[in-house]
Amino acid sequence: MEPVSRPEWPADDGAGEAELFFQRCSWCRTTTIRRLLCPACWSTDLVAERSEGVGVVAPRRYGPTTPETVWPVRMREGFVVRCRVDGPPHAVRPGVRVRLAATAATITVPGGRIVRRDPVVRLCEEAALDGWTRGVG
Ligand SMILES: [Zn+2]
Repeated sequence: MEPVSRPEWPADDGAGEAELFFQRCSWCRTTTIRRLLCPACWSTDLVAERSEGVGVVAPRRYGPTTPETVWPVRMREGFVVRCRVDGPPHAVRPGVRVRLAATAATITVPGGRIVRRDPVVRLCEEAALDGWTRGVG
């Protein structure tokens, strides 16, 4: 019998496995995530869409209790989502491009408590850092 290895994440590194869904307002086209109301016009008419999974690390505004690896990421579609950034800490800073690597999940930890695991993104080192983020919003 061959030993069966179980990698923590799917071995295939493509964007095929990881998914991130956001919401787009049917009225004003504002994008958001995990909301019941549009933050711009308060409409409840939000439609779920799948993100391309590419974004840029945004300035961090979390308190000291947040893990060092957790950053807000502004996705190409315009919404900002809290993500765990998988990369060397010195390379992770606002303006760095990232790509979705693992889907957000809700997991039950021993003891029965339910916790939300933030989506995981990886640095796209080969990508240029300027371009489409400028002048948006
Ligand atoms: Zn709206």
